[in-house]
Amino acid sequence: MSTKNPNKLLFAILLGITIGIIVGGFTPDIGRSVQFLGDLFLRALFVMVVPLVISSMIVGVSSLGDVRQLGPLGSRTVLFFMATTGIAVIIGLLLVLLIHPGTPGTGPESQDLTNLAERMDHKPDTVAGLLQTLLTTLVPKNLFAAMVNVEVLPLIIFSLIFGGVLTTLGEKGAIVIRFFDGVNDAIMAMVHLLMWTAPMGIGALIAGRLGEAGGFSGFWPQLVSLGAYAATVIIALLIHALVILPLILQFIGKQSVPAYARNLSTALTTAFSTSSSSATLPLTMEAVIDEHGISSRTARFVLPLGATINMNGTALYEAVAAVFIAQSYGIELSLAQTVIVVLTATLAGVGAAGIPEAGLVTMVIVLKAVGLPIEGIGLILVIDWFLDRCRTTVNVWGDAVGAAVIDKLENTT
Ligand code: ASP
Repeated sequence: MSTKNPNKLLFAILLGITIGIIVGGFTPDIGRSVQFLGDLFLRALFVMVVPLVISSMIVGVSSLGDVRQLGPLGSRTVLFFMATTGIAVIIGLLLVLLIHPGTPGTGPESQDLTNLAERMDHKPDTVAGLLQTLLTTLVPKNLFAAMVNVEVLPLIIFSLIFGGVLTTLGEKGAIVIRFFDGVNDAIMAMVHLLMWTAPMGIGALIAGRLGEAGGFSGFWPQLVSLGAYAATVIIALLIHALVILPLILQFIGKQSVPAYARNLSTALTTAFSTSSSSATLPLTMEAVIDEHGISSRTARFVLPLGATINMNGTALYEAVAAVFIAQSYGIELSLAQTVIVVLTATLAGVGAAGIPEAGLVTMVIVLKAVGLPIEGIGLILVIDWFLDRCRTTVNVWGDAVGAAVIDKLENTT
């Protein structure tokens, strides 16, 4: 908010989380009954996503001055995303090979995957299929349908081209750009207001989810039964988020890591409580631009794109999960298969939407690519809601670090 009191808000959020954990952990019934307050917060965030993505992309691209500048900015951004995602996958892979959390012979023969099948719907399950779907969805058939379904990637592409074209129309175009600039400012002002409800919303989401898991007594057995796997994912995520990304932020982005992390605390806790990079996007933009002062010219471009295709945490988790499943079936992956895991996990991170448990769905691609049984997903289903929160937080942190670094590179060259 260009909060005069960011510390006060952070304190309130931490209090909200603590109360949420206590309520959901000890009294799951009450936890479940306050869930609707969290859902309300989530809906309020989601309602901002479409106008924010469209207006920030249009204004962002038009503020580049010359559309030709989009080339270097775009390629730098995508290169950065790919490089950090690749590093994340390799960290995950090294750790899962080192810790070896899977016990051979524990892979399920077959599982009731109706739930998963429903979630997958008509999603592609091969790399070629994923690429095809990605490319096809870049071009929306119907703009409004894309908005209704919050399909962010096609909206980004449309807005980029629309914004670029506006810059070539002289005065007529300038009026439209000013209109979207106003829309953007208005949405950001609404985000500021909404942030005051974040402590309650975040607390309620956590209380509700813990309540759904049956409180502490339901959650601990889930965590313990998959302890080694969950620990591998979490340690790898921590290494990426607390060592690799800060080093990049400090030395390439030239930002103070503690200050950046503090300014992003609301966005990061929201990512954890919503499991959705897209829902968190309004708060990420607020933190990066208004709180930390990264130029809106870069952030308006990098962050919406990042929330859609840059998923460091998800890609890392896909690699760990795939190898864990292989280990559980007693399958040794060859070097070539391991390389395929790295490539497909990176791609699966790109392909996953910024919504809860999207990564679980794209994981089928990784498993299929190396010929692992899809039933293996049954092994990790039970704890996925928790790991989803952890990886989403890292996804959002990765996007924010990306915005700072790209901004630095833009200003020094
Ligand atoms: N929930 C994640 C996100 O929104 C995606 C995933 O890994 O499932 O960033």
